[in-house]
Amino acid sequence: MPADNILLDVKGLQKYFPVRKGVFRRTVAHVKAVDRIDMFIREGETLGLVGESGCGKTTAGRSILRLIEPTAGEIIFRSKKLASSGEDYKEVNVVTAHRKMMKMLRREMQIIFQDPYSSLNPRMTVGAIVGEPLLVHGLAKGAEREDRVKALLAAVGLKPDHMKRYPHEFSGGQRQRIGVARALALDPQLIVCDEPVSALDVSIQAQVINLLEDLQGEFGLTYLFIAHDLSVVKHIADRVAVMYLGKIAELATTEDLFTTPKHPYTEALMSAVPVPDPDWNVERILLEGDVPSPVAPPSGCYFHPRCHYAKDICKTDAPVYRDLGDLHFVTCHFADSLSLQPIRSK
Ligand code: ADP
Ligand code: MG
Repeated sequence: MPADNILLDVKGLQKYFPVRKGVFRRTVAHVKAVDRIDMFIREGETLGLVGESGCGKTTAGRSILRLIEPTAGEIIFRSKKLASSGEDYKEVNVVTAHRKMMKMLRREMQIIFQDPYSSLNPRMTVGAIVGEPLLVHGLAKGAEREDRVKALLAAVGLKPDHMKRYPHEFSGGQRQRIGVARALALDPQLIVCDEPVSALDVSIQAQVINLLEDLQGEFGLTYLFIAHDLSVVKHIADRVAVMYLGKIAELATTEDLFTTPKHPYTEALMSAVPVPDPDWNVERILLEGDVPSPVAPPSGCYFHPRCHYAKDICKTDAPVYRDLGDLHFVTCHFADSLSLQPIRSK
């Protein structure tokens, strides 16, 4: 594991949801939403997290912030704010952090939700929404808080007098800007962006993505950027993790993923991008069948029933998540020998 500038190091993260049945609500099975994933995010970088709907992206993102309790694993966060004098950072395991520590960590790890319609309280003014984190953490009050809120609104391209208005008075793109301003209020280091543009008109998506990129430079932010489609992360992500049924199928730099994909699922996912894009000139690979249920995932390699390259071993043995070199991680028995279709040449 390279130690350079790692802000967040996720090890063996697992989140199973119990499936309960009957009068006694007995647990009869588990939804294996996130099934032991490993990944790290460097300071200032954007890690894309992509995969089909239901593969566990939101669960992974929320578990990392401990908005839901992980079932197992470690989430190591290197906090600069919590460092004692003489230390560069303090290492905290988010999973085992106690209440007080968790409250401090909340200031450093924020989330932008997918749906800017339901994630903002309709009864609160924009000023109250954006200023709420400052209130909760007792960081600024009165005129000081108002000034901070105005500065935050300005940072996301809104006007100071928008403070007094309510969310329903704004368009989808503007509402997402409000959500971004609120996420920035506590001056966090890490922001989990959970499909922040999926609910927006295509014409607005680029504006919000550009805003997020600008803010990243301005405030030195680190992003875990969740999307269901590779075309969205192509521009914003430095590296991309591709998830399938709760596991990471492949994780590599955006460049490597697009020029030398190593997992058949990545190849299929890339070929399925529907948008017209001059870079995207590949033969479409049909992903046959539905995503299997995470309650009873297939034996062996979870992807084998839909994989065009599957061999006998794939039905029986689960491939290990491994580094092929240059931090190109893949979970496939045949990653070294397959020659998959790239999106663009090197
Ligand atoms: P994604 O964000 O990639 O679409 P999710 O993380 O939302 O996927 O969901 C992953 C899996 O976990 C899905 O099968 C989903 O139905 C299930 N799931 C998510 N949240 C819960 C929950 N609170 N209880 C039970 N199952 C859940
Ligand atoms: Mg989701």
